[in-house]
Amino acid sequence: MNEDVLNEDQLLEAADTLAREFTRRLSRRRVFPDAEAIARLKKFDVPLPDTGDGHDTLRFLNEFGSPATVASNGGHYYGFVIGASLPAAAAAERLVLAWNQNALNGDSSPAADAIERVAGRWVLEALDLPREAGVGFGTDATTCTLTALVAARRELLTRIGWDIDRQGVVGSPALRVVVPDTVHTTVFKALRVLGFGLENIVTAPTDEHGRVDPRRLPPLDERTILILQAGELRAGVFDPFATIIPRARRAGTWVHIDGAFGLWARASSHHHLAAGVEGADSWSTDAHKSLAVPYDSAMVIVRDATALEGAMRTDPGSTGMAAASQRDLTLEHSRRPRGIGVWAVLNTLGRSGLRDLIDGYVRVAQFGANALAAAGFEILLDVEFNQILFRGATDAETIALVEAARSSGDTWFSVAQWQDRLAVRISVSSWRTREEEMTALVHTLVQAQHGV
Ligand SMILES: *Cc1c(COP(=O)(O)O)cnc(C)c1O
Repeated sequence: MNEDVLNEDQLLEAADTLAREFTRRLSRRRVFPDAEAIARLKKFDVPLPDTGDGHDTLRFLNEFGSPATVASNGGHYYGFVIGASLPAAAAAERLVLAWNQNALNGDSSPAADAIERVAGRWVLEALDLPREAGVGFGTDATTCTLTALVAARRELLTRIGWDIDRQGVVGSPALRVVVPDTVHTTVFKALRVLGFGLENIVTAPTDEHGRVDPRRLPPLDERTILILQAGELRAGVFDPFATIIPRARRAGTWVHIDGAFGLWARASSHHHLAAGVEGADSWSTDAHKSLAVPYDSAMVIVRDATALEGAMRTDPGSTGMAAASQRDLTLEHSRRPRGIGVWAVLNTLGRSGLRDLIDGYVRVAQFGANALAAAGFEILLDVEFNQILFRGATDAETIALVEAARSSGDTWFSVAQWQDRLAVRISVSSWRTREEEMTALVHTLVQAQHGV
């Protein structure tokens, strides 16, 4: 190996300088890279080299990689719900990277194990979910939903006398899954991977706001898993948990909540939006969206901790449930301690700072919707949480508007299908987005509309 490869101090210092320059410029640069920056990515497409050099590697990555990134960590990006990382969490992750722990349990890392246990407890407090629940820190909402579904299936089958660990899925009693007709595609992915079979998935119709309509809910029983949403992908709305969940639980149905970004309403002044969600059996939520932890970080939460541990336990022979480690609560065995970023945000913000963080998304999104309405845009729904939906006079005009605004380089957002038409969706999920950024967005949109 080259001497230089081992020059840790200098390399890390150089990387840190570049990282700081990158974040300083985030809110002043193009939001989506231009064609030239993207074309220059071809520089990476070379044969595997024989030798290399750490400084050159870093310089190259910064010269050709950084300009082709998307400034979703800045304040002018509104595509999907991505989230920007809070400096305190990004800083903690820098240190955790140096630790390079394998956070599978307390033997492999006492520090990670202890901190993630506290992080799990704080998450339950912040979200006001049952304190006895098990919390696993995984990579993303998709994986965490999958993890919860493994626990749900295993538990429902156990209740009807089928031991999935021993007997397997082949020949097992069929389970049905009811999902909102607006459900995120990644939920289907999780179900497909688990072998539920698309034919066993029934959709629950939603109303004009995108919420599951309790009057049209498909039948529920003890062989059903019902998935509801805290924060629908396009409209950001919440299903009527207080009406549906008690009914489902009485029927013996397992209720799982996809709360990728919206579950954090529980920690805000708008907690009424998710009232009753605490009655569910399991929840999945991202830390890398509303909570502003760097990618990738998410949580699976299961009310009956033993159901989660039973499904995820690494050594099925062991039964010591009381003190499960993360390797017995997540899909991974070897893993980095993703819960530490969560701990860092919660420890930095505290309850009140967390409330301000989430309240900020709502306040800024409502401000933006009002400003857009004042500028003459047709807002499709009142903003409840962080999503603004509006559209042009026709689908073609909506698309033209989005393209014109994106090509300005000042912002980026996407088109979403909303009921029978296309709509522009503005997701406010960066702590760096304030009223000032919203005003700039409206200005960009008005300019774009003149050009359409
Ligand atoms: C983002 C999102 C997901 C998927 O989350 P990942 O972290 O990308 O796996 C699922 N459901 C909803 C509602 C989302 O917004």
